[in-house]
Amino acid sequence: DHGQIPAYAAQLNTPQKEAVLTTEGPVLMLAGAGTGKTAALTARLAHLVAMRKAWPSEILCVTFTNKAAREMRERVGRHIGDAVEGMPWLGTFHSIAAKMLRRHAELVGLKSNYTIIDTDDQLRLLKQLIRDQEVDEKRWPPRMLAGLLDRWKNRGLNPADLDAAENEAYANGLGQKFYQLYQDRLKELNACDFGDLLLHVLNIFRTHREVLNQYRQRFKYILVDEYQDTNAVQYLWLRLLAQERKNICVVGDDDQSIYSWRGAEVANILRFERDFPGAKVVKLEQNYRSTPQILAAASGLIDANSERLGKTLWTEIPNGDKVRVIGVWDAPEEARRVGEEIERLEREGAPLDEIAILVRAQYQTREFEDRFIQIGLNYRIIGGFRFYERAEIRDALAYLRVIAQPQDDLAFERIYNQPKRGLGAKTLEKMFQYSRASGLPLAAASLQLADSDELPKRAANTIGTLMRDFLRWREMEPQVTPSELLRTVLDESGYSAMLEAERSTEAAGRVENLSELARAMEEYESLGDFLEHVSLVMDNESRSDGEKVTIMTMHGAKGLEFNNVFLPGWEEGVFPSQRSLDEGGLASLEEERRLAYVAITRAKRRCTILHAANRRIYGQWNSSIPSRFVEELPDEFVDRETTMTGGASLWRANWSEEADPFAHVSKSRSDARGPGWQRALSTGYDTRQSVVKEPRRSAASFAARPRSDIALGSRVFHDKFGYGTVMAQEGNKLEINFEQAGTKRVIDSFVTLAD
Ligand code: ATP
Ligand code: MG
Repeated sequence: DHGQIPAYAAQLNTPQKEAVLTTEGPVLMLAGAGTGKTAALTARLAHLVAMRKAWPSEILCVTFTNKAAREMRERVGRHIGDAVEGMPWLGTFHSIAAKMLRRHAELVGLKSNYTIIDTDDQLRLLKQLIRDQEVDEKRWPPRMLAGLLDRWKNRGLNPADLDAAENEAYANGLGQKFYQLYQDRLKELNACDFGDLLLHVLNIFRTHREVLNQYRQRFKYILVDEYQDTNAVQYLWLRLLAQERKNICVVGDDDQSIYSWRGAEVANILRFERDFPGAKVVKLEQNYRSTPQILAAASGLIDANSERLGKTLWTEIPNGDKVRVIGVWDAPEEARRVGEEIERLEREGAPLDEIAILVRAQYQTREFEDRFIQIGLNYRIIGGFRFYERAEIRDALAYLRVIAQPQDDLAFERIYNQPKRGLGAKTLEKMFQYSRASGLPLAAASLQLADSDELPKRAANTIGTLMRDFLRWREMEPQVTPSELLRTVLDESGYSAMLEAERSTEAAGRVENLSELARAMEEYESLGDFLEHVSLVMDNESRSDGEKVTIMTMHGAKGLEFNNVFLPGWEEGVFPSQRSLDEGGLASLEEERRLAYVAITRAKRRCTILHAANRRIYGQWNSSIPSRFVEELPDEFVDRETTMTGGASLWRANWSEEADPFAHVSKSRSDARGPGWQRALSTGYDTRQSVVKEPRRSAASFAARPRSDIALGSRVFHDKFGYGTVMAQEGNKLEINFEQAGTKRVIDSFVTLAD
């Protein structure tokens, strides 16, 4: 029947149609960015339902993110209407596996109402196990074990499947034992972790054929987007489900495989034809997203990779601007420049929703957030917290707030036991109780408590130490720059050590965020100025629903597209990341290059790459080298511009004291100062010595008013120590001779008069 072409297929080109209409048998769509893979997959879904090849509930469709699943649902809905409501099996691997596991939980020893624990719970649990087994948790931190468990689960390995090397990877041969203990413990709790979702279902499929057969019967068609980023367990799971009917259609791009660090194996896409012999392979070569310039720049770059299938891309989209590469002086200028460019686009009528800034690492967002808030530009952060909302940043700020403001109870409450100092809820309760009774700020109340016998010795010592630290930091504050103060606090409080001990990628990201915080502080002369800035930033958070610029990581942007894309920080050590350079392998560098390819190909109309000549890292000016990826971009399609006379490379060659106003700073690594120091040098005004500070009220100078109803010789009752007689009184502290407990120093608000 050659009637009207259905709307969902009307727009498609010939190979796309082929992928849609070849409903039976395995189909592999292997094609470059923006060629309409996801569009074809969506049309295929609509087609299967419209043609009544299957009920919506008989199609399994896997997307990489929940956002992608929502979008696909929406688009399919436009073609098949309400039928889309009946698609329970459209989602991410995790969401689909979680649903299956609910139905068969008892087969792996769980109940159907099992809970999925988060990372925090997981770490607490692992910590308990490590302690129970008397393994040194400093040498073998819980996070390290969590990372290994994740790796094993991503690879579809159960405890019994670990080989000697894997077993050896934790606590000298205890890998398997801990894996097993952990799984047992989870079962007792009727819980599982994220990695378990797929593994449990895979185990069920392997051991209960009848369950597997049931799903094989159900899923008449299987569709998978972003197949290049599936890991082993996902691959095995799909293969089991698809092996019988073989109606599986996967789409992907080997050049966009960017999750190998999470266990993804690009080889999965390459061996599809072997797993499903006779698979129809559809190649898409026409790109519908980007201008020829953007496409050529991205293709030229990815050409430098050796491990790839190679493909041709072309577009009918008219010529546009070349990809712009802008060299700037430093990170603040980079943010300023991007802000200006966006304001210009806005004046030209470009919608903010179509503008994205894609960064390599989370910490890079800070400079842009600060700038955008300053110029009143609405932005949203996707896939992460706004910089000042991140846990480690809030912790650091809490320390600084207690230093600046001893009355700041909220801040004190946040960090009194962070890093863990062994202070429990009981201690906190006591501190609160006394703070309320005495009208003292929490910090001051704690100091007085620590100096009495009200608290157990250990808690008292710990708090005493912490409070003495705060006194010292407070005294130090006027003498040093705010960023120096931050570094001292992080080191002396044990916060840095806590992160280092974790030895995880996540912790490394937090360390980066904290050094970015130090960098931000260098622009301020005093701690007070900086904290004021932060509270303005926090207060300014635009909650409006209007159009916003998107800020996100390159990883998170996979599959998305924007008219205008800005790619800042293309410098060696930022992108490619320092970690990928340190690892040194070709593979990690090629993965970074694929990430660059993903990033550039998000752009529809304009792509702007930036690199700064200087980055301040922990207060040190470092000259940075433009990313090798910048040099690899084919000249023909690139406009290179630099705001520094002579260009970045010339400037580097001419590096000298005269040319470089910061030479005195950057030459000596140990003598690193922020701008306050630079200003001081250039104006002959040393901020560190001549600023006269108001004397501060330190915690010690707070005192509670003593009770007037207690006199020497009064008989009193104390909850912990019982009855006693007041022997001495010093402010609100009492020395009491207790009938049972002997002589103790207690605080007057904790006793009642005994008659
Ligand atoms: P990526 O590799 O980045 O995930 P993709 O191959 O999945 O890209 P899509 O996102 O599906 O590409 O499509 C890119 C853009 O091209 C979208 O805006 C889509 O609407 C449009 N598009 C896809 N196919 C066609 C077509 N045949 N005609 C016109 N536009 C199309
Ligand atoms: Mg896609």
